[in-house]
Amino acid sequence: MTLIEKLESNQRLTLEDGIALYDMDLLDLGIYANKIREERYGRKTYFNVNRHINPTNICKDVCQFCAYSSSRKNPNPYAMSHDEILSTVQNSVKNGIKEVHIVSAHNPDTGLEWYLEVFKKIKEKYPQLHVKALTAAEIHFLSEEYNLSHQDIINMMIEYGVDSMPGGGAEIFDEEVRKRICSGKVTSEQWLDIHKLWHKANKKSNATMLFGHIESRIDRIDHMLRLRDLQDETNGFNAFIPLVYQRENNYLKVKDDLTAQEILKTYAISRIMLDNIPNIKAYWVTSTVKLALLAQEFGANDLDGTIEKESINSAAGAASANGMKQNEFVSLIKNSGFIPVERDSLYNELS
Ligand code: SF4
Repeated sequence: MTLIEKLESNQRLTLEDGIALYDMDLLDLGIYANKIREERYGRKTYFNVNRHINPTNICKDVCQFCAYSSSRKNPNPYAMSHDEILSTVQNSVKNGIKEVHIVSAHNPDTGLEWYLEVFKKIKEKYPQLHVKALTAAEIHFLSEEYNLSHQDIINMMIEYGVDSMPGGGAEIFDEEVRKRICSGKVTSEQWLDIHKLWHKANKKSNATMLFGHIESRIDRIDHMLRLRDLQDETNGFNAFIPLVYQRENNYLKVKDDLTAQEILKTYAISRIMLDNIPNIKAYWVTSTVKLALLAQEFGANDLDGTIEKESINSAAGAASANGMKQNEFVSLIKNSGFIPVERDSLYNELS
């Protein structure tokens, strides 16, 4: 069966098929990706009203692509107190957020309680708020630092009020590339195992892929297939989030930015390859809002949220430091010919 015949009959694609998709014309590829997207979601584009908080940038790890960690080019180390975090949450709740998204660097000096207690405090004060927190990389860091198992940390997260796990720390699963960009951090196998444990606790998570640095197209498809395999087993991923690599202020010497064409092809291919992950998120923070909106024609059905403030990607050059206003977000989606749908963190439609 040819690739086109497989696409026409919605067959599951192999690694070789995925690589061949990159050789297709962008607009042809977009037609297949958009067909799947429209069958599931019509012209709806999802977003949520959320707040990102990055409580510390002090990190024991030294990922080559990172511009956020204070141990490298960023000379301003910080660690927020719980009171500062709670006051940020309080202000954001007034603005109508439904989710708080908390991810940090790997700070060995703050203590396990600093990481966990704040979730409990947020939940006690705002039980309606969805707490999305701790990437698999952070869970692995905490397990090593405190000599606990991944399962122990997961049990504590649930006990302290974490509702779902973000998809960060996946970067790219290929072991050789991983060694060059984030040696010492959670391994690919550990990342997948941690998500599996989380899903087995009946909880949902997301999965990211950092692309546009030194990885190959093969590495991207391999990354998607490892996620697809786990999703077949657990069905715990809500969304796949391809993150466009930001080039500034880090030690990974990447000469050129990805072309818009390559980025759009990657969204479209994600939609086609990941037949079992319901949502493909064009995270506007790393792709720019305009390209994230265009990606809605190429298989993506989600833009993430208003976020209010963002420190990790903006440190590397993304225009995301101040988030987006909800009405601005809604207008942009409408003006692009889509129906804006506010969702909660688990993709239930709100309005
Ligand atoms: S990417 Fe995360 S783990 Fe790696 S250096 Fe930056 S903050 Fe630390």
